[in-house]
Amino acid sequence: MSNLGEFDLIHRYFERSSKDHHIVLGIGDDAAAVHVPSGEVLLTCTDTLVAGRHFPDITAAYDIGWKSLAVNLSDIAAMGGVARWATLALTMPAADPIWLEGFAAGFFALADLHGVSLIGGDTTRGPLSITIHVLGTTQAEGMIKRQGARPGDAIYVSGYPGEAAWVLECLLRGAAPGELRCRLDRPEPRLHLGRYLQNKATAAIDISDGLVQDLQHILRASGVGATLDIARLPRRGMDSAKPSLQQSLAGGDDYELLFTLPAGQLINDWTDEPILTCIGHIDAEPGLRGLGLTGLEPMDLRGYQHF
Ligand code: ADP
Ligand code: MG
Repeated sequence: MSNLGEFDLIHRYFERSSKDHHIVLGIGDDAAAVHVPSGEVLLTCTDTLVAGRHFPDITAAYDIGWKSLAVNLSDIAAMGGVARWATLALTMPAADPIWLEGFAAGFFALADLHGVSLIGGDTTRGPLSITIHVLGTTQAEGMIKRQGARPGDAIYVSGYPGEAAWVLECLLRGAAPGELRCRLDRPEPRLHLGRYLQNKATAAIDISDGLVQDLQHILRASGVGATLDIARLPRRGMDSAKPSLQQSLAGGDDYELLFTLPAGQLINDWTDEPILTCIGHIDAEPGLRGLGLTGLEPMDLRGYQHF
């Protein structure tokens, strides 16, 4: 690609030494090879980010590198796994060294935070699009699936869902989202929380498509219903400078965890970030109901309008 050759580019920006002794073969051969820790299963997931669709065209290269990895790590977090290895399929219009430096810096900043090694990938020319494949591991018995929520379980959410959608809306109408900007551009995959929830949560999912929609995946997989207490949705900020109820319920791109806990399951030893909030409970009766802001008038969330 351009005067920076494809292999120079891979070597310069993406080939780094790793201390991970599970890696038998990293970047540089036809395939990578890793040892899965004995007694564990391999978790694998992949997500593509397309410029203009998954991030605004004006997004900084650093943030694109960070976010492309973050959305994948978030899926490993939702399973309660340890993220270990990643491959990166990068399609870009030109080999721009400044862009590549920024992209790699963002990617590796997040990878290093979680001990993830880049072990391979593919580099091609075309409209900007990034596909990352993450491999993680976990004890099979510790996996947290979407299936498993039971009537009486409490429903919890981490952080403040809706903030990413709120930031995007600010950007689209030319307003400055201030320090919350990173909630859209640099989501923090909740890997530590996911590990903590192993053998505690009955079901979990990461919120990529909006709280209500992702909760419904848990309900469907588990064959149950739920009641949400709208007044308890965690929202912060001042007046108009915070997500609307609509954004809290349906905004995407948050990468927080939504999970269910058996009644009486304690989590008060979780003192780390993010905050955890109980927002409702699982019912035997199928469907999703909401208790309105006063806690009295029930809302029908079945036909909830997404953006
Ligand atoms: P092949 O032709 O065998 O598919 P490539 O020539 O595409 O291999 O890539 C050479 C090596 O560089 C491979 O090990 C591949 O995994 C790695 N690689 C290619 N692009 C990237 C990238 N963007 N990030 C990390 N590794 C990459
Ligand atoms: Mg190739």
